[in-house]
Amino acid sequence: MTGRRAELAANLARVHERIAGAAGAAGRDASQIELVVVTKYFPASDVDLLADLGVRHIGENKDQEASAKVAELSHRDDIMVHFVGQLQSNKAGHVATYADVVQSVDRAKLVTALDRAAQRADRRVDVLLQVALDEAPGRAGVAADDVAALADLVAASRCLSLRGVMAVAPREGDPRAAFARLREVAHGIRAGHPDATWISAGMSGDLEAAVGEGATHLRVGTAILGSRPSLG
Ligand SMILES: *Cc1c(COP(=O)(O)O)cnc(C)c1O
Repeated sequence: MTGRRAELAANLARVHERIAGAAGAAGRDASQIELVVVTKYFPASDVDLLADLGVRHIGENKDQEASAKVAELSHRDDIMVHFVGQLQSNKAGHVATYADVVQSVDRAKLVTALDRAAQRADRRVDVLLQVALDEAPGRAGVAADDVAALADLVAASRCLSLRGVMAVAPREGDPRAAFARLREVAHGIRAGHPDATWISAGMSGDLEAAVGEGATHLRVGTAILGSRPSLG
C-alpha cells in the first residue's frame, strides 16, 4: 500500500468505528447509515483510492472543482456525487448535469434551475432541502417554517426527487439539540412526502450527535482526508 492509501484506509476505519459506536449507543444499525466522504480541496487521485477502499459516496462544494474531478473520474462508474455547497442559481444548471444528489437546496429559484437543467440533460437528480438550524445571518438553509412549501415545489418538479433534509450544526451550542430540531423538521416533511426519508447531518466533529438524532447520511471530510489546505 502506498502511504496515502494506508493513511486513508486507517482514517476510514477509525470513522467507521466511530459510526458503529454511535449507532450501538443509539440502538441503530450502522449499515443503515451512509457515509459521504467530503473530498473538496483534495485531488481526484484521493477519490480513486477511497473508491478502491469501498467508498461509494463523495461530497463536493464548488461547481468548478466538482465538475473537473468528475471528468477526471470518468473511468469509474461506482461513485455517487453529492453536491453539498452553497449554490448560486446560475451554477445550479451545471451541477444538475453531473451531481447524483444536491443536498443544499434552500430556495425556489434553485429548484427551478436544477429541474430545467436535469430535464435538458435527461437526468434525475435527488434533492435534499438544506434547513437553517440557527438565525445567524448569511448562513445557508431554508427556515424551518418555509420547508414544507419548498418540499412541495420539489415534489411537483419533473426531474428532481425529494429525498429529505440536510443541515450543518450552528457554530455555537449543542449540536445534538440542533440535530433534534432537524429530525422534527424531517418528520414533518415525511407526513406529506413519505419517500423523503434521508437526514444528512453530522461532520467530522459532530457525527456521534447526528447518529444519535437519526441521521441517515454523514458528511465527513477532515477526519478521513486530513486538514484542508488553508485558503490563506
Ligand atoms: C466541508 C463540509 C463538510 C465536511 O466537514 P468536515 O468537518 O471536514 O468533516 C460537511 N458538510 C459540508 C456542507 C461541508 O461543506
